[in-house]
Amino acid sequence: MGDPELSVVVPMYDEEEVLPIFFERMRPLLDGLDIGYEVLVVDDGSRDATASMLLAAATDWPELRVVRLLRNSGHQAAQSAGFRRARGRYLVTIDADLQDPPELIADFLATAREKDVDVVYGVRSDRSSDSWAKRTTARMYYRLMCRLVGKDIPFDAADFRLVSRRVVDAVNALPEDGRVFRLVIPWLGFPSAEVKFVRAERAAGVTKYNWSKMFRLAFDSVTAFSAAPLRLATWLGLLGGLLSIAVVVAALIIKLSGNSVPGWTSTVLAVGIIGAIQLLCLGLLGEYVARLFQSSQRRPQFLVGYDSLEDPGHQALDE
Ligand code: UDP
Ligand code: MG
Repeated sequence: MGDPELSVVVPMYDEEEVLPIFFERMRPLLDGLDIGYEVLVVDDGSRDATASMLLAAATDWPELRVVRLLRNSGHQAAQSAGFRRARGRYLVTIDADLQDPPELIADFLATAREKDVDVVYGVRSDRSSDSWAKRTTARMYYRLMCRLVGKDIPFDAADFRLVSRRVVDAVNALPEDGRVFRLVIPWLGFPSAEVKFVRAERAAGVTKYNWSKMFRLAFDSVTAFSAAPLRLATWLGLLGGLLSIAVVVAALIIKLSGNSVPGWTSTVLAVGIIGAIQLLCLGLLGEYVARLFQSSQRRPQFLVGYDSLEDPGHQALDE
């Protein structure tokens, strides 16, 4: 048995509700493609019945492969695990919640072959299924990222895409941790194409991306690609410094001119400005230091509990 033509990587975190619907829709589609494939589900440390349901499903679906991470490591880390372990000539990443229509996988493959490209992005042509807050923050995010990465990041192309083996190997060769796939892949610069689609509502269950996970993604995105905030901090520091010098000079002139100085306002101002700017700069510095710290530790980003391919009989799951 050689390597499959296609690996479908599905990160899953507590997806017991959507899992049966997902498989029901996915399997006939993939069987119908008439190519060798594997569905590589990365169970991102789910706490619900996802793990046992996956094992049960794998018993009568030989193409289903389950990789279980020991703990919840996040959507991007789960994708990293998928990239490392997938064997296919092409790799598609797709969410488990059916917001990304699996029917498009066939289009992705056809586009990749016809246009001879290494990346096919699924681009959302309509985000009306998302909340206003999500749409607005997403737009801000993509605008900023285009600037920082210095390349055209396809707007609203999240993590539903096809990449070739060349891209998988290139991504795996990157030494950095905390990769943000939607930025790293355009940054690599392989020839690409887009397929537009309308994003559906989540088929079942609730979002697994809370605000703190979204902030993490945003911070990782910025600090991975740019020292601009650090430079901004320098400029702000300079500006604040000049401002406070001006305040000091003004206070001195008033004092020398003989008028007794009320003093209070200028003192508060100076302390306030300096304090604010220092805090801001420290915060930004902290982000970078944290990144350096993390990468200097070289801790694994995820730990694999088992891979059904290597250990098919494995049942030792905490029920
Ligand atoms: N996910 C994951 N680990 C996490 C959070 C999410 O593997 O810590 C998976 C989740 O199961 C889903 C995908 O990432 O397959 C996208 O998450 P979700 O649909 O909740 O995000 P949203 O579409 O709301 O942005
Ligand atoms: Mg979703």
